Amino acid sequence: MEKIKITLPDNSVKTFESGTTPQHVAESIGPGLARAVVVAKVDGILRDLNFPMITDNSLELFTGDTPEGHDTLLHSGAHLMAQAVKELFPKTKVTIGPTIKNGFYYDFDSDISFTEEILSKIEYKMKELAKAGQEIIRNEVTVDSAIDIFDKLGETYKIDIVKQINSEDVITIYNQTNFTDLCRGPHVSNTSKIKYFKLLSTSGAYWRGDENNKMLQRIYGTVFHSKDALKKHLYNLEEAKKRDHRKLGKELKLFTFDDEVGPGLPLWLPNGTVMVEEIEKLAKETERIAGYDMVRTPHLTKDILYKKSGHLDHYKDSMYPAMELDGVEYYVKPMNCPHHHKIYSSSTRSYRDLPVRLAEYGTCYRYEKSGQLFGLMRVRSLQMNDAHIYCTKDQFKSEFLSVCNMYLKYFEIFGIDKYSMRLSLHDKSGLGKKYVNEPELWLTTEQWVREALTEGSIDFEEVPGEAAFYGPKIDVQVWSAIGKEFTLATNQVDFAVPEKFNLTFIDEKGASKTPLCIHRAPLGTHERFIGFLIEHFGGNFPLWLAPVQAIVLPLSDKFSDYAKKVVKVLKDEGIRVKLNDRADKIGSKIRQAELDKINFMLIVGAKESKEDTVSIRKRFDGDVGVMKLDDLTNVMVDEIKNRRLTHSKEAAATE
Ligand SMILES: [Zn+2]
Ligand SMILES: [Zn+2]
Repeated sequence: MEKIKITLPDNSVKTFESGTTPQHVAESIGPGLARAVVVAKVDGILRDLNFPMITDNSLELFTGDTPEGHDTLLHSGAHLMAQAVKELFPKTKVTIGPTIKNGFYYDFDSDISFTEEILSKIEYKMKELAKAGQEIIRNEVTVDSAIDIFDKLGETYKIDIVKQINSEDVITIYNQTNFTDLCRGPHVSNTSKIKYFKLLSTSGAYWRGDENNKMLQRIYGTVFHSKDALKKHLYNLEEAKKRDHRKLGKELKLFTFDDEVGPGLPLWLPNGTVMVEEIEKLAKETERIAGYDMVRTPHLTKDILYKKSGHLDHYKDSMYPAMELDGVEYYVKPMNCPHHHKIYSSSTRSYRDLPVRLAEYGTCYRYEKSGQLFGLMRVRSLQMNDAHIYCTKDQFKSEFLSVCNMYLKYFEIFGIDKYSMRLSLHDKSGLGKKYVNEPELWLTTEQWVREALTEGSIDFEEVPGEAAFYGPKIDVQVWSAIGKEFTLATNQVDFAVPEKFNLTFIDEKGASKTPLCIHRAPLGTHERFIGFLIEHFGGNFPLWLAPVQAIVLPLSDKFSDYAKKVVKVLKDEGIRVKLNDRADKIGSKIRQAELDKINFMLIVGAKESKEDTVSIRKRFDGDVGVMKLDDLTNVMVDEIKNRRLTHSKEAAATE
């Protein structure tokens, strides 16, 4: 037998007989890996584990907890489900079954209605089929023979798909026992590798997404590499439903939408407004310390400004239509940038004035298609944590780093442990087309950003070809406590606009120079950020952010005078406190306060009113004892002032 050399990722080289498979290599390394491996890359191409390796090659093995491995498991799960459906309901026709993030679906044409009961039957069948340890075999066939195969099986949808493939191409089909599917692969080599799965839900879906076609039945499911990973995912799915910001927003009376106001135009209710104002307060404090100046700009602006800024050329579809006043067209502003540029240029700037940092929680209006609107996440009116920094080239690096550090500070305050920063760069071929034609400036600013991030020990990844037209940018993604991903904000370097707006400063030698501009909005918009916070905290906000921080619950109306006194003392300290002096039993008052997710419940009766104390019940901690009124206010004020994360995320998550 001929021998081949296989190079592993650690650069070690092993010798095998020609025709060996990735599965066999995994077995030679160890039984643990042999069990866990699900897919391989041979010379950089994803392959099945039973792929025969004929010549020298490089080999990378992927277990089910890697992105490549997980996707293979998911895709194999879709096939397993289709096989189970065909076994149980042979007249069903299969169509397509792709993977999605953390899951898969498959669309079926069936006379059987896939109820919950049927779903558990299918799932049970899948378990049987998985355990049977069927081999999953890849076959290359011509288009004609594929049509023949699916014709014999009566799979008319598959024939439809095959017919759209170029007849010269070789296509692959996968078999497991008597189930055949058209598929590019790769797949796990044996159904016994698919262990931890769950069918989740069903929905209707038109064939090819066209409403003129037949309505099919879609089944969603998921597979994970371990029991724990599956359990955690299912928990997160349940939790995400409970934490949906639209649902909690209603329950906690944070915001609402009204038909007569218009879609995508949120109304902040008193409770939500408290959160908006607390976040603004945090931003303003932080920005004041960081040397920003606050500005305010109007919501309406003449067309000429947006012609100059380029918005009317490039962004008009996202703007509300013009309104004519005194023969001039006005627009509601989609962005604050041009206004801040105008404030910069309203006076002569010397190098001594720079950096100039202009900040505003600016309200913008953007036209999002109604199908795109989604709760607070996609809206048409938004208030942005906006600022523009105008600086010299020498100041750029430290300014950029300060902005990134501001992000990190906010992440700490809000308990955001997982985030990523993506640095989007230009590519040379796009210069003058997709990107401003300033080859030198691109390279230097990109390098400065890279250096700033590295010096600040901030993790980031680079993505070439994703920059904006006028400069490199950083996109910030954050993950909520239950692992849901949100796009938070963008940091943008801009070297085109200062010139367009003729922004200048006088340098040390008296020459007129163009500053650089940084657009930044660490807290994004109130709408999206509060939407995120609702889901992140599950509505259990830290004390400083909670709309109602304490509620006083008198045991009976005999103590209502003392209860009112407690309310006054707390109010005088700036604490947001309410009184529940209804005639209900104390137990039901506590339950209501729990439902309203209020952090401090202050119970007062005979003993408390005599001793100037309160009995404290804290959310998640239960009864924490009696405290002097003064001591309580000190504790609360301290917690609020320092913006402490009141309770652990675990407490919030295991509710
Ligand atoms: Zn497949
Ligand atoms: Zn801007």
